[in-house]
Amino acid sequence: MEELRHPALGAVRVFLMPDDNKARKLRYNLGHPRVLTFGGAYSNHIRAVAAAGRRHGFETIGVIRGEERLPLNPSLAYAAACGMRLDYLDRGSYRRKHTPEVLARLRERWGEVTILPEGGSNAAAVRGCAELPACIDVPYDVVCCPVGTGGTLAGIAAGLPPGKRALGFAVLKGAGFLAGEVARLQREACGRVLDNWSIDLDHHFGGYARTTPELDAFAAEHGVERLYVAKMLLGIVDLARRGAFAAGTRVVAVITGQPWTPVAEWGAPTGFDSGEPR
Ligand SMILES: *Cc1c(COP(=O)(O)O)cnc(C)c1O
Repeated sequence: MEELRHPALGAVRVFLMPDDNKARKLRYNLGHPRVLTFGGAYSNHIRAVAAAGRRHGFETIGVIRGEERLPLNPSLAYAAACGMRLDYLDRGSYRRKHTPEVLARLRERWGEVTILPEGGSNAAAVRGCAELPACIDVPYDVVCCPVGTGGTLAGIAAGLPPGKRALGFAVLKGAGFLAGEVARLQREACGRVLDNWSIDLDHHFGGYARTTPELDAFAAEHGVERLYVAKMLLGIVDLARRGAFAAGTRVVAVITGQPWTPVAEWGAPTGFDSGEPR
């Protein structure tokens, strides 16, 4: 694993572990012939679901927040190229997307579908991410990850051996509610809430999808994605500078942003489920 180099780290070591958390979250959510899910117009989750549908040969429907804008942005164009069908919800309905009323409307429109929540965070996603710690091949004390909806952190913490800790960095402003989300997800996936994790709320750099010149410069210098990964890494550097980690602490930072696989490189669908071929 590559190490992060930064003068403020002092005696704290930070190992960078590239890992596609969105793929992990989907792993135990596969096996349904038709999947509907939600996301913003630049959602990594939407892209991951579309790519999985393309790869495994199941139908996908992406319900996007806001109005349709044409031409599609590169993220949605990629999803569409994978075969995802796109639907749109106005912002008010989108806020109520998980209510029975809006879900009934979507089921009426799209028929029999398996619905995955926004960001893909459910109990199955937690089980998928719980497999991550076993893939870490350096000695460590703490695993860090960015936090959007909390499924990744909930899973990593659930998969940690005794004595290790997980620390998430919220990329949203005012994200105090996220601890409740992580707790709920662990209760659903593991039957209890673990006490080996926490969430830093102070490194959102203005909020979800926001950035600052400092963040942009750091991301460019280290060649990392800005909106999740750079916030976490700069958060780790900042905590180290302030002495929040004991000297010699070994941190594994999960680099969650993954390059998109070009659609042309998806071979024939693997036909994951035993349902009808498309
Ligand atoms: C979705 C995402 C996260 C956060 O995952 P959650 O499980 O939603 O907290 C982190 N990094 C990247 C690049 C993501 O796309």
